[in-house]
Amino acid sequence: MKDKCGVVGVWFDREKNRDAAAIYIYYAMQALQHRGQESSGIAVTAGGNVIADKGMGLVTDYFNRERLQRLAGFAGIGHVRYSTTGSSRIENCQPFTVQYKGGTIALAHNGNLVNYRELKKELEAAGRIFTSDSDTEVIAHLLVKELMRNDLVEAVRETMRKLSGSYSLVILVDDKVIGVRDPLGFKPLCIGRVDNGLILTSESCAIDTVNGELVRDVAPGEMVILSDRIESHKLFRCKNHSYCMFEFVYFARPDSIMDGRLVYKVRHNIGEMLARECPTEADIVSPVPDSGITSAIGYSGASGVRYAEGLIKNRYVGRTFIMPGQDLRETAVRLKLNTVRENVNGKDVILIDDSIVRGTTSRRIIDLVRRSGARKIHARIGSPPIISPCYLGIDMATREELIAAHKSVKGVEFLIGADSLYYISLDGLISSIGIPKEDLCTGCLTGVYPVEIPGEQCEARQTRLQNFTGD
Ligand code: SF4
Repeated sequence: MKDKCGVVGVWFDREKNRDAAAIYIYYAMQALQHRGQESSGIAVTAGGNVIADKGMGLVTDYFNRERLQRLAGFAGIGHVRYSTTGSSRIENCQPFTVQYKGGTIALAHNGNLVNYRELKKELEAAGRIFTSDSDTEVIAHLLVKELMRNDLVEAVRETMRKLSGSYSLVILVDDKVIGVRDPLGFKPLCIGRVDNGLILTSESCAIDTVNGELVRDVAPGEMVILSDRIESHKLFRCKNHSYCMFEFVYFARPDSIMDGRLVYKVRHNIGEMLARECPTEADIVSPVPDSGITSAIGYSGASGVRYAEGLIKNRYVGRTFIMPGQDLRETAVRLKLNTVRENVNGKDVILIDDSIVRGTTSRRIIDLVRRSGARKIHARIGSPPIISPCYLGIDMATREELIAAHKSVKGVEFLIGADSLYYISLDGLISSIGIPKEDLCTGCLTGVYPVEIPGEQCEARQTRLQNFTGD
């Protein structure tokens, strides 16, 4: 499973901080690096023109002092990307800039549109030329089209009316930095205050990194314009929301506060819930690092089973390549993870992981722990079985590849080689997150999606979209 993207927007009082936008964006993007590692980009303005620079690679690989110095401006946006819609190539890097007769806009997007192909076809028929296969460019062109005939707020409203799917956007237009969150609120977006300015970001950990203060989340369906104040326009309302439950389970950093919940606390709750739902005798409870760590601590606290790290992650692994032969594949796993033999040898081990997607990684990890002498391995998983793909911004797997789409819990247990396997219940997960079921997206767990997706079920949530009301 791969993270999607992270977005940042920064606005400063131009008299006090003329050139500071790029450096703040640069540090904030580093704090969001876990959300995308394929490409990095920044667009800024010093008033009038937009200057953009983007390229492949991690933030610190692509941006250096010279590049940042060329990006002088008091306002700007930034993006780290892992490709969801659109392949991994330079043309798909964000922010996208589009020129129009009123100027230039730059736009960066976290999420995935489910209707972008139809929208793109319509725009192409009307003469628009695209330089990428990304859904984000479609949003940028739609917005430019609307800006030709509407003021800014109406242009954003009309653009949103056409979009279906998930989107948290940061936009640089007319020397303003704008944040937009889709009406169901799939992807996170929050606002913070920094010295002489304001910041928009996917996760609050980025606000902490630049020594700012979290103000609040951007509400689903809301557009905010950053200036010397936060100008809010509630453009659409839905009866319910659809916060992605996987942000809490896996994607977000545990030190982020997201839609009012500290992610660390949610993962701790998940561990406690696993201990309560499936009490298990064992010598140690160990996380699969990193995302299993907080839940394993919660599990240990609730069960009394000793917490000990059975696996250590190498944080400096570069890209690995598919290697022929089992032994070499084994090396690739060992490069990323190694066991602490003394902690697992001769022990009954509870292994806490956030999810099982294809099952191949779980099988290799369990094999590694067993070869280090573990007597029994009980796999405990912080999300229910993933039975359906994600169409809303997470690169997961196809239905054919998802192990739980075709196998029972016993079947998965056998295939991954665990002595026992337990997934947290859906109700247990929802109560751990602390957000009502009706306000969470659980499409990949239930096969029922909050928006219409060809060939998939969505009837129960369809009514939400009919409840949009313009201000
Ligand atoms: S389908 Fe799953 S991963 Fe995708 S947005 Fe919904 S909850 Fe998140």
